[in-house]
Amino acid sequence: MEIRFWGTRGSIPAPGSSTLKFGGNTTCVEVTLASGRRVVIDGGTGFRLLGEKLKGSGSPCRFHLLLTHGHWDHLLGIPFFAPIYQKDTEILVDGWPPAFQAMTRVFDSHMGDGFFPVAFDQLKGSIDYLNRLAHGALELDGTVIDAVRLNHPQGGLGFRFREGNYTMVFLTDNELGAAQGSRFDDFVEFAAGCDLLIHDAQYIPADFPERRGWGHSSYDEVVTLAQKAGAKSVLLTHHDPGRTDAQVRQIVEQAQNLAAHHNRIVKLDAAREGAVFRLANK
Ligand SMILES: [Zn+2]
Ligand SMILES: [Zn+2]
Repeated sequence: MEIRFWGTRGSIPAPGSSTLKFGGNTTCVEVTLASGRRVVIDGGTGFRLLGEKLKGSGSPCRFHLLLTHGHWDHLLGIPFFAPIYQKDTEILVDGWPPAFQAMTRVFDSHMGDGFFPVAFDQLKGSIDYLNRLAHGALELDGTVIDAVRLNHPQGGLGFRFREGNYTMVFLTDNELGAAQGSRFDDFVEFAAGCDLLIHDAQYIPADFPERRGWGHSSYDEVVTLAQKAGAKSVLLTHHDPGRTDAQVRQIVEQAQNLAAHHNRIVKLDAAREGAVFRLANK
């Protein structure tokens, strides 16, 4: 499988000269399975850029969209994803169940008018809700995808992709040190032996205890998870909107120093908008 990052920023887009390296768009990850099938995780503002690519491809746009949860930084790109205005587009939505409703409300606000000028049922593309992952695994062309409950306000789901000998785990908007909810060991079990762990590292240790309960993790907690799970590669994501490229780089260096004590982690970096990571037999 191939993993391409279209958005790596947390909470709100952070455009500007100080975020060019790691990117300012919010969460969107394109996973291309070995069969060529496309699965997209989250519809943050990076989703708009993916839409531009797909619109220009000349072939109908059909894919699964897995939503981790319904917070706006993970849905903001959906109304601006150009293929949803094309008749031959087919999107199957799965993931955290309340997120699908949140997605329709991006278009149809029941609380008031004026969020967006187009109603959900006016979209030309077909968007259906599969609702499989909250109840079990989803198998696509031999790749098995399953989910784990995240520790995050209003909840959410993290995903695991298993294809052949390779496993990728994607956990964003997840507080590893939360007092309630999934336990640290639940995540160790979920990520056990994975080849690539992509995890929220919005915070640094100094952000706690003030931000305890906000639903995000610090890089040192991610390194501990990776070490206990035996993850081979780690990519930190959901970068804080206030963090410059230099500060994200500093986080990476500090995390690498911690990881150096654990010789099982072979690679650690920060997820970067536009970057591609391949897990394949060749
Ligand atoms: Zn978020
Ligand atoms: Zn969130």
